Amino acid sequence: MLAVGMAVGAAFASAAANNGIKSANLVYTVSPLQLTLTFDDGIKDHYSIAVPELEKRGWKGLFCIITDKVGTDGHVTWDDVRDMVKRGHEIAAHTVSHVDLAALARAGNTNEIRRQVAACCEKIKTETGVYPRLLCLPFTRWTPAVVDIAKTCGVETMLVNRNCFGDFDRRVDATIDELRARNAERTDFLVHGIRPEGGGWKPFASVEAFCGYLDDIREQEKAGKVCVCPYGGF
Ligand SMILES: [Zn+2]
Repeated sequence: MLAVGMAVGAAFASAAANNGIKSANLVYTVSPLQLTLTFDDGIKDHYSIAVPELEKRGWKGLFCIITDKVGTDGHVTWDDVRDMVKRGHEIAAHTVSHVDLAALARAGNTNEIRRQVAACCEKIKTETGVYPRLLCLPFTRWTPAVVDIAKTCGVETMLVNRNCFGDFDRRVDATIDELRARNAERTDFLVHGIRPEGGGWKPFASVEAFCGYLDDIREQEKAGKVCVCPYGGF
């Protein structure tokens, strides 16, 4: 926990320093938007393509893992997940089997909500040695009861400004400008598929297109508009 807090502070200070230099001429008064790069569903390409591309740019990612999917076709293995942790990336719980937790809440099935969250967290802890601090909601669906149950399982629920990238009509620069215009302090850029043949929801057109997405973020970071850092949405 301490290591994560320090990483946020260091990255933020460096982006703020860049911003300060520019502010002499451009009169920036708003701090850089804190941006977390997240990857949902434990797609194999996250390990084999996204992790090295993030590292080339000096970034860490947040990878949201469905424990029943680990080791199945097209998905990461536990060895992959352990290596990601070793390399400083963060793993979030994304439930045991990617169920709609809001639907379970409406049906009054709190035991199954608890099992989906707790068993996922326990499995991640057993396999990696690290208990996750975050719950990523399947389909981004939730109710206040879901958030409360997650808390009792020792995880905070990711609820802030999730913006999907991949096969979407959305630009990095426009999204960041819009969030800054709203004075948002943080956001979460979410990716599922990296390339069509690798699986995952709404993938980018190619690995090159995914790298272009990262390079667009890099430009925004150089301009002092964002700071890529761990998720701090609570
Ligand atoms: Zn998902």
